[in-house]
Amino acid sequence: MNSYDFLSLAAPGVQRLQPYQPGKPLEALEREYGIREAVKLASNENPLGPSPRAKAVVAAQLDELARYPDGNGFVLKQALAARHGVDGERITLGNGSNDVLELLARAFVTPENEVVFSEHAFAVYPIVTCAVGARAVVTPARDHGHDLAAMAAAISERTRLIFIANPNNPTGTWLTAEALERFLENVPAHVLVVLDEAYFEYARDPAMGIEGYPDGSQWLDRFPNLVVTRTFSKAHGLAGLRVGYALSHPEVADLLNRVRQPFNVNSLALAAATAALDDAEHLQKTLALNVAGLAQLRAGFERLELESLPTAGNFVCVKVGRGSEVYEALLREGVIVRPVDNYGLPEYLRVTVGTAEENARFLAALEKVLSR
Ligand SMILES: *Cc1c(COP(=O)(O)O)cnc(C)c1O
Repeated sequence: MNSYDFLSLAAPGVQRLQPYQPGKPLEALEREYGIREAVKLASNENPLGPSPRAKAVVAAQLDELARYPDGNGFVLKQALAARHGVDGERITLGNGSNDVLELLARAFVTPENEVVFSEHAFAVYPIVTCAVGARAVVTPARDHGHDLAAMAAAISERTRLIFIANPNNPTGTWLTAEALERFLENVPAHVLVVLDEAYFEYARDPAMGIEGYPDGSQWLDRFPNLVVTRTFSKAHGLAGLRVGYALSHPEVADLLNRVRQPFNVNSLALAAATAALDDAEHLQKTLALNVAGLAQLRAGFERLELESLPTAGNFVCVKVGRGSEVYEALLREGVIVRPVDNYGLPEYLRVTVGTAEENARFLAALEKVLSR
């Protein structure tokens, strides 16, 4: 019999790749621990669910499922173009914004290149870098967030992409318009800066009090090497359907579209995202629930004398000591949060802001687990 060593057959980057660790699904907790009615605060999903308008258009679309989707996503792109005040040629749609991040690496990065991102930054950046065989240049964090001076200093002739999450997941840290503008002014033309604004809607909410938080799309004309990514997975509550997009220079969008699968965004996703974009009321409810929930969590942490990081998103990192042990103990109480030791934060847990009831269940479970 032949003996197979598939690992040695894989591309070198893929051999080294550490797969993404998603939040544990509710069904998995039920299956593995026999726990019902669990609470999941592990993936920064919208606790209110999708917009009722998005649900209605998905239902109406079901009879059309035999048809291919519009491979150019014309209607959604038009809606996004109007919303952002940009030309449709600047938009690339993705199967989630993860897809767009991967398209960027595939279109622009070779094994000879380097990709710069920060310590504690979103886990997809190392994955897409590794998958194309490029070298990851990881800059040390500053106050748990991105150190833009260190990132600028890390740029070399080989650098092709810089990933910046604003705010960052999992730390919740953010950068101001002033700091980012200064940074962008100094990035050379052979480097693309990817500004990942997955939590834009939360950070921009005036009630969050995040001063100087920028809308990256305002800089697209001034900095042609800037790419801004957004998603419908977080504030718009459509994580299950997978829709995200990039705003960029039209030539960058053209290149991304060359490597994209022809039908990367499905018809239900296109319809739901277009409808969700129009539902200002649902977004408003979502943001209000987030601000109230963050206050509830912070008050709970204070009562338990736990430190937490400041955040501009719908999640917060709380310092609990041994993160992975507390995570396991919380699972047994029917509460799923996210351990972040793989992000270099072993003392913390990341908790998504849920409904008032979910937050209360989490805090009660946390108190119980920590008092043991
Ligand atoms: C959740 C998240 C994304 C988006 O994920 P998609 O569901 O693929 O759109 C992108 N960046 C960050 C930092 C995130 O936390």
